[in-house]
Amino acid sequence: MRLKTTIRIILFAFLLYGCSRSELNDSEQNITVNNKKQTGSSAHDLLSDDTFTSMVIEVVYVEGYAPTQTAINNFVNFIKARTYKPNGVSVQTRSIVSPDKLQYSIEDIRDIEDANRTAYNTASQIAVWAFFTDGESDQNTDTSSIIGTAYRNTSFVIFENTVHDFSNNNFEPPRDLLETTVIEHEFCHILGLTNFGSPMQSSHEDLDHEKHCNVDTCLMYWASEFGSGIGNMLGSNSIPQLDSQCLADLQANGGK
Ligand SMILES: [Zn+2]
Ligand SMILES: [Zn+2]
Repeated sequence: MRLKTTIRIILFAFLLYGCSRSELNDSEQNITVNNKKQTGSSAHDLLSDDTFTSMVIEVVYVEGYAPTQTAINNFVNFIKARTYKPNGVSVQTRSIVSPDKLQYSIEDIRDIEDANRTAYNTASQIAVWAFFTDGESDQNTDTSSIIGTAYRNTSFVIFENTVHDFSNNNFEPPRDLLETTVIEHEFCHILGLTNFGSPMQSSHEDLDHEKHCNVDTCLMYWASEFGSGIGNMLGSNSIPQLDSQCLADLQANGGK
């Protein structure tokens, strides 16, 4: 690695105006750097049309773990209802082969994104990466299973294998309902909820579960990303909505 760095420095010094390999790498980094920031830091850019007038969602799933089309349609409708993107919201969907792990850390998930993501922000379009994986979160315990995580400013993962474990069986919610709930919950984290980049207009963060809303029927209640808690929230077979306080936070940060 050190030799490579030395060569790069030499190239940079002597080929200032040439198209050296190192410059190509630099420009690749410039394209991706704006999509590798902290969760919540692009909330205003996602919500408003100040900079970005359209949004593309890159949906990538491990073969056999595609989200339902109903959940994707619900997600797009949710984005249109909450954000200003006058030039449209589009979805690109494709599969990848399994990375073949039973458990994934967030570092694993970041590496998979870096190796497979193709959609990055352009001058007027903001890009979001939504990854649906096999296996489960390495943070799961005997009593709690994580279904989704928002881990960068425009990236979230859904542990679709865990979705399968907690849907479509006796006394469990329908799969599309559970998927829609977790997808919208994770997306709202990158929209800055709760107290996660969209400043709170009233005090409603759950201090026992940071970055979540303390209203137990709200989409941003902590239980809606955990297998153990989501069944209770979906008892009425309808998608949890944002409460008025979360909506006010989004509206104050440029959203609808
Ligand atoms: Zn959450
Ligand atoms: Zn709320």
